[in-house]
Amino acid sequence: PVTDQSIVTKMQAQLPPDTYNLLREIGAIADSHGINVYLIGGIVRDFLLNRLNEDIDLVVEGDGISFAHTIREQLGGQIKTHEQFATATWTTPTNIKLDIVTCRTEYYDAPAALPTVRASNIREDLRRRDFSINALALQINKSDFGKLLDFFQGQEDMDNKEIRILHNLSFIEDPTRIVRAIRFALRFDYTLAKQTEELALNASYLLKQVSATRFLREIQLLINEETIIRGVKLLDSLHVWQSLFNLKPTIESLMKLEQVIAYHFNDAFIVILTLNYGQHNWKQKVKRYSLTTKQNQLIQQLEAMQTVPLSKNETMSSIHNRYHMFKEDTILLYTILTENTLLRNYVEKREQLKPLLTGQDLLMQGIKPGPIFSDILHQLTCFQLDNEIINRNDALTWLQAKRKNNL
Ligand code: ATP
Repeated sequence: PVTDQSIVTKMQAQLPPDTYNLLREIGAIADSHGINVYLIGGIVRDFLLNRLNEDIDLVVEGDGISFAHTIREQLGGQIKTHEQFATATWTTPTNIKLDIVTCRTEYYDAPAALPTVRASNIREDLRRRDFSINALALQINKSDFGKLLDFFQGQEDMDNKEIRILHNLSFIEDPTRIVRAIRFALRFDYTLAKQTEELALNASYLLKQVSATRFLREIQLLINEETIIRGVKLLDSLHVWQSLFNLKPTIESLMKLEQVIAYHFNDAFIVILTLNYGQHNWKQKVKRYSLTTKQNQLIQQLEAMQTVPLSKNETMSSIHNRYHMFKEDTILLYTILTENTLLRNYVEKREQLKPLLTGQDLLMQGIKPGPIFSDILHQLTCFQLDNEIINRNDALTWLQAKRKNNL
């Protein structure tokens, strides 16, 4: 187990000296007001794991907002308060940002609903958290600087490399914790504790009741960890995809997903779309997750592309005529989703294509600017795609001939 002294050494090693000294000062101020104050959340876990983390979250037993005002009065800086959450963000004169929160208890009135909140003490505040490794607190009062509070075997679980929930109803209260569990397991190369895994499996059907925004946010965080394929597989083992979309990710869909991510479509919605694409009723299934106008447009464009299937011996120019009005990104995504090799050749060729003429060339030929400009350039692109015009000289000859024939 870590001693108070060894954790202070870790803090000193990992925090910038400014930040470390600031915590000491805050601790001294808290002492003079008889208030207990703790570092909490990911940063405490990361001290113990020797990982960098500069996200400073403080909780106080007492009124977080008024404590934030007290430290600002003594140390300067700026405060932004969020009364609704009993939270303040303090920006120090040297531009360090800290969140200061009131210890609180959460009550869940219904499964998967948002909780009601009440001020409480540190133990209660830790008890509402997701996993034991995230439920550690580090006191920073001068009198107890570096005292580690570990009510839920967080250190033991770190030693065993396990993600463990704090009580049996945890996933029922908040099913998004299932996705979070996978995220932390992948990040630290941990496994879910046996009972935690069983409870996740039993509660995954409740994800249906969670708002699309919250689910997507957690999936987005999973993607940001760059472990999405393993994440998808693990979520599958907990029946998440099955309960949400009646879907079992296949090798093919995972391969597509890999390509989608490789092309920087790193968006939680696209992940959902890729897994569902081609499945029965895919549009309806992803609709619930189509949150923005942009995402709706994307679905409409994919649908529009789908309506006119390409024939095998289609020329590049004919494909171009059909698809040039779509955004390149959308065509690329459609290509990956449909695994259409003809379209892939087109996308690659179009990407490499260098324009042989510019608007300036057309002006030099005495053509008046207007819609005709883009018509001519479009025609030229078609000839280039079919390899009928391959250099600038040929393009100029073609343009002159066109000009002679009055376009
Ligand atoms: P990261 O290192 O990715 O920032 P973190 O541990 O700081 O991870 P956050 O998502 O920033 O995680 O959340 C901060 C803290 O709030 C967590 O450590 C956890 O204790 C708590 N928390 C966040 N989301 C939940 C949740 N859905 N249920 C319970 N506790 C949560």
